[in-house]
Amino acid sequence: MNDQQAPEPFEPVDEDWQTALAVVAHPDDMEYGGAAAVARWTAQGKKVVYVMVTSGEAGIDSMSPEDCGPLREAEQIASAAVVGVDTVEFLGHPDGVLEYGLPLRRDIARAVRRHRPDIVITSNFRETYGGVFLNQADHIAVGRATLDAVRDAANRWVFRELVAEGYEPWNGVRAVWAAGSPESRHAVDTTKHFDKGVASLAEHKAYLAGLGGAMADPQEFLEGFGRGAGSRLGTRFAVPFEVFPLR
Ligand SMILES: [Zn+2]
Repeated sequence: MNDQQAPEPFEPVDEDWQTALAVVAHPDDMEYGGAAAVARWTAQGKKVVYVMVTSGEAGIDSMSPEDCGPLREAEQIASAAVVGVDTVEFLGHPDGVLEYGLPLRRDIARAVRRHRPDIVITSNFRETYGGVFLNQADHIAVGRATLDAVRDAANRWVFRELVAEGYEPWNGVRAVWAAGSPESRHAVDTTKHFDKGVASLAEHKAYLAGLGGAMADPQEFLEGFGRGAGSRLGTRFAVPFEVFPLR
């Protein structure tokens, strides 16, 4: 009787690219896992740009969205700088109540055409984390919309207003990568950049102060996350990605 199978080993992600665009729902989404990978890539000379669909303004119970939004934008900009990212854009969609739909696809497609990346990164948009914890609705909406927006960005006849705005189609995206997906089969070794990932998450000071539980300690949370993926890549720490090839 043996129905417990060892998980498959991860394969290293392709690192033969120059520019990536990370599209996530909230400030802190990149830092709960992906930021150490970004630190590795910017250290290799790659360019990574962050696009936040919301400003995370509904993320702190004790603070009104009007006060919270600008504070969380500032924390995200500081957090991105720690891992070598100097462009952070905010699309201004409403936090907590994002809807998958054409307005979201169009705004992400515009960002893809503006930045013309080789790789697009988003966060896990499967229903759960690790088959256990429920994912959050905004993450699911953004991930699905990002997959579709990458194709929209390549098609001149979808969202024709974007061409009128000066954004020509971009069909150079090679893959979409979803960080932390339970369906991941690839990962990147972040052992040397683990501390940068922790420092990046720690920049979300007000957010972490308002948070309780297992996610409030950057070091502890990221060690658990990084070790789990590392054990399948054969490294101390790693970030897992589900890879959706486009070409
Ligand atoms: Zn989030």
